Amino acid sequence: MSAITMRELTKVYPGGVRALDALDLEIADGEFFALLGPSGCGKTTLLRTIAGLEVASGGSVRIGERDVTGLPPGKRDVAMVFQDYALFPHMTVRDNIAYPLRIKKVDRRSRGSKTADTAEELDLSGLLERRPGQLSGGQQQRVALARAMACHPQVFLLDEPLSNLDARLRLEARTFLKRLQRELGVTTVFVTHDQAEALALADRIAVMEGGRIRQVGTPTEVFRRPANTFVAGFIGSTPMNLVDARVHGDELAVGRARLPLPDDSHGRVTDGERLVYGIRPEYLDYSPTVVPGALTGEVVVVENLGSVSLVSLDVPADDTGADDSGADDSGAGDAAGAERTSVQVVVPEGGEPEPG
Ligand code: ADP
Ligand code: MG
Repeated sequence: MSAITMRELTKVYPGGVRALDALDLEIADGEFFALLGPSGCGKTTLLRTIAGLEVASGGSVRIGERDVTGLPPGKRDVAMVFQDYALFPHMTVRDNIAYPLRIKKVDRRSRGSKTADTAEELDLSGLLERRPGQLSGGQQQRVALARAMACHPQVFLLDEPLSNLDARLRLEARTFLKRLQRELGVTTVFVTHDQAEALALADRIAVMEGGRIRQVGTPTEVFRRPANTFVAGFIGSTPMNLVDARVHGDELAVGRARLPLPDDSHGRVTDGERLVYGIRPEYLDYSPTVVPGALTGEVVVVENLGSVSLVSLDVPADDTGADDSGADDSGAGDAAGAERTSVQVVVPEGGEPEPG
């Protein structure tokens, strides 16, 4: 059993930065779990606090049945791979992989066989006598993984394991990591600021902001049903469009436009309610001519993304102010505050407007 349970976990650094703010999170046994969020939101701190490299200011961490909150790193049975791999430059690959086994006072013979087995698993057998400086970035990363794996820990903690690789290697390493985790079945927490990476790899994702968890769910859940506008804006290759709207019968009024209410919103909204409507640029259709009832705006930018284009439209405020009746002038419809709202649409090749 190696589920990880965090309760009201808090970390305040000397100087007062509250990097973790009474955070609650449960990671299941054997899960491949992503911590996703912008730089500075507390991802590394959370990982280091699970590892015992940071002392929690409050709350608790359990691994399996054990409360490990007060235990030193060596007693937690976790292995962490650091963002910069932190390999020993003066040691061979063999000695790097064997190092944690030596610290654990594993005898020389089983140290040798464990190192060789792990190296073989990670395709490093031919590189054992080299030093880290003589390896590519991808090979260095595999050595860091091997060093973490050699001890057969209950939990793997990976801090941005792919961020130092170039784009093509990154895709390869992604697939490799996923396959490895499946084979080992070890509870794995990996940190990333790249939403595409989290969506592609993880069984579940926690989206973090300011030391708190904003949503936990499967990739499909956080993509399809973001719990708040922060998650909506963070997940997806292009940010979700967020416009002020008002429920109008079985339609949504966005300014003068009338859009169909999403199927799954019935029973969850009431007539006349003002809300923020989120729609992904991929799910809007673009028409070069004005369509009655549709959002209308001026094309300001057309970006070529390869097989599709991303069209940015400026929609005037009276089209997004949701001020369709004038009956309720509470001002909520002015939440956007601007005179115009930018709306983005993904358009298939050939359907885009002429630039300029
Ligand atoms: P992330 O990994 O998501 O980028 P971090 O966990 O590294 O975020 O940092 C979270 C917050 O804690 C940031 O505001 C950062 O500046 C602060 N922080 C991180 N490490 C320390 C430290 N050793 N001392 C003081 N503040 C720190
Ligand atoms: Mg970090």
